[in-house]
Amino acid sequence: MGGIEETAREKDSLDVVSQYSKFFKKIDTFTGTCPSCGKSTFTIIEFTYNTPYGNILVISGYCEACGYKFSDILNLDIHRPIKLILEIREPNDLRSLIIRSKTAKIILPDFGIEVHPGPAALPYITTVDGLLYRVLDILELFSNGGKCKQLENAINSAIEGKRAFTLIIEDPYGNSAIIPYHKSRLTIEYLKV
Ligand SMILES: [Zn+2]
Repeated sequence: MGGIEETAREKDSLDVVSQYSKFFKKIDTFTGTCPSCGKSTFTIIEFTYNTPYGNILVISGYCEACGYKFSDILNLDIHRPIKLILEIREPNDLRSLIIRSKTAKIILPDFGIEVHPGPAALPYITTVDGLLYRVLDILELFSNGGKCKQLENAINSAIEGKRAFTLIIEDPYGNSAIIPYHKSRLTIEYLKV
């Protein structure tokens, strides 16, 4: 794996937000007491992103003393089930931004993959290729003896921009969003409650 891939993998949510800051509106920054170590070195930054189905609030906290991190993603206006469908047709589409709340399900129909949110699921912001790296990590956890090699190869070629695929996010509370590189590649559907 090359250096660029590694960088994409290591990015945390806050770095991604600052990289794509033109899409987000920074609404507040404040320092408080760290819930983990108790020192007054806990910085919280809040951003919003406006979607056709309401304002998404991103809260990101980091403690300089102990490294404790906190993040949450919420829709401030509307709480209805949504389905976001992104078509990845060329390498730039991989740079679309995924704002995934802890209640969202990720579906990659071309690879037969569904990632359901567990009770301890954490919200995150990443790019499409960053999301595929996360999927590779999950596959690694569940593979025994290289059974998933074919699937891994398929996902790696998707990360390299060599194959088209569809990414679906289903969120029962409408807390997730996709910021597409090409607007025309994103479809928003409202699911029945
Ligand atoms: Zn701390």
